[in-house]
Parts: sequence; structure tokens; C-alpha cells
Amino acid sequence: MTVRPHTRSRRAESSALASLPDPAHGLDPGDKGIVTSHPFWSVAVGSCATGTREPGQGRKAAALSGNPGVPQTTWPPLSRAGVTHAWGPIVNKMDLVPDEPTMPSDDDLMESALVEARRASKLGEVPVGAVVVAGGQIVARRHNEREATIDPTAHAEVLALRDAAAKLGSWRLEDATLVVTLEPCPLCAGAAWASRISRVVWGAPNPEAGALGSLYHLGSDPRLNHEFRVTAGIREDECVAVLKEFFDQRRN
Ligand SMILES: [Zn+2]
Repeated sequence: MTVRPHTRSRRAESSALASLPDPAHGLDPGDKGIVTSHPFWSVAVGSCATGTREPGQGRKAAALSGNPGVPQTTWPPLSRAGVTHAWGPIVNKMDLVPDEPTMPSDDDLMESALVEARRASKLGEVPVGAVVVAGGQIVARRHNEREATIDPTAHAEVLALRDAAAKLGSWRLEDATLVVTLEPCPLCAGAAWASRISRVVWGAPNPEAGALGSLYHLGSDPRLNHEFRVTAGIREDECVAVLKEFFDQRRN
């Protein structure tokens, strides 16, 4: 059964859902990625929320994601707003084997992200830096630019993902990794989801807005049509220190 995102009708969706052999399981055994609990109203026709999972992704990525944050058995939360249960900051340092022999280490990549964060600090921006790596090379590096651009969405991750897509000539960043000094907020975790990113690495936990482990885990939610691996707590002390120093200076 193949359901094309752009041609999917409600009737087709209805029959697709009805034909799923194991409603309780959530996903069909063929990994077509149709979630039985997916309500029709949440499945938009278009590239943003197609309701289909990319081949070879999703469950596989989730299986590889280890324990970065929220156990899937406890998700989703029970409330309509989905915020009744806040998980504490979970920082798991997972020493993953690099994807390729030439792949820079997470520590090295985080150092590059920290350089961006320190640049932001000097410019009066909240110091968050991000890099995107693909094929063993950094293809984008940005820092927070909300103040300079007067743009509430000019977060380091969003800017880096846009640059990476432009450089690679594709909005799909399936083989790329996003490395960021602060745990992404819902906006940036959503941007990572939209880019079909393979993995996200973050440094400092974000207990006030973290969406990859602290408050939510948008990288490992089976209701979404793409999941990705998350590695947390890389060079955490340095990433926290950059932020603390910035806010300490502002108070004085
Ligand atoms: Zn953000």
C-alpha cells in the first residue's frame, strides 16, 4: 500500500487506516508509517505534515535513539494541552560511534558551535550557536540573530538548517546532523523535524523550553511522521558557562 502525501484524500486515508492490521500497535508492520491515532484534522496535505513516514526512517531512527529523554511508553501526555507532565532535564552522554570514519567527533563539532555562540554573545545576542554537518563536513554555522534581525524565529538552529539546505540544494537533510549548544526549543525541534534531519546533538539542557528531552521530545514522538536520534549533554559545562556568563554580565 502506497499513499502519496500530495494526492492523499480523506477517503483514501480512511481506507488506509481501516486496513491497518494492528490498530493497537500504532504503525503498520510494513513501516509505511501511518499512525492509527492520527486524526484527520492533523494531517495536512502538503510538505509540512503529510502523515507519511519516510522509508527506512521513523521506527528505525527511534530504535537508534537510545534514551535521550522521554520513554515512548509514557508519551503522549494525557492532557489536551499536552503539558501536564514535564520531564526534568535529562542529560545522557552517549558515546556514539561516528557514522563515518571521517566524521568529526561530537566534541569537535560542539566546539565549532561554541565558537558561534561566543560570537553571538559579543553581538549582544543570547549566545546559542549551531552547526550542520553532512558528509563529514560542516556545511553551515550560525548563531542566534534575533536582536540583529528583529526576527523571533532567527534562532541559530533555524538559520543553520536554512543555510545547510541552500548549500546542499535540498530541503531534505536526511544524512545531516545538527549540533547546537542549547537544547532546541519547540520551534527549532520542529525545524529539525521538517528538515528530516538524521540526528541532533545538543549541549546545555533547556528546562524552560527544551523540546528534545526536557519538556517534550519531538525527536521521538511516534505520532509524527519523522523521528531522529538525539545526543544530549555534549560539552555541557562549557555550553552552560557561555549562557551563564552572558546573563550574569547583563544583570551587572
Ligand atoms: Zn529555538
